[in-house]
Amino acid sequence: MKAREPRLARLHGRHFYRAEGELGLARPDGRCVFSELDGQGRIRCHLHAYAKQTQIDRGLLQPVSCRLFPLIVIDRGGGRVLLTVVASHTRRLVSAFPPSRYPCLADPSLPPLHEAMRADLDWLFGDGFAQALTSAAISRR
Ligand code: SF4
Repeated sequence: MKAREPRLARLHGRHFYRAEGELGLARPDGRCVFSELDGQGRIRCHLHAYAKQTQIDRGLLQPVSCRLFPLIVIDRGGGRVLLTVVASHTRRLVSAFPPSRYPCLADPSLPPLHEAMRADLDWLFGDGFAQALTSAAISRR
């Protein structure tokens, strides 16, 4: 990643720290090293933006939980899976900040998650899952 991402070369800066001879990733204000604040103080993922900008598959850069954020997938055992989303009452499950800090949850101009995350949902649950979810959402209106 360092060869492709100049930000990672900034040793002793915002992204890395050195302590007792070890190099570690910094966590600005307790946030992920790859997070950034936009002009409104909202949290954005630099890896997400970088993948989009360079047209690299996000799955090659982000951990699965990050690729699915703000969705939360809980394995309840016995083949049962609970799919939910980061909200005020679930955010602690994934150590997330309040929903208002994330554009994907707080910007009303963005499409609903089942549309915006169509490719990710199909990747995780199989082709057609996102469409089935959209249909279910429409029938509940
Ligand atoms: S989505 Fe993952 S990699 Fe991106 S800022 Fe959040 S925790 Fe970091």
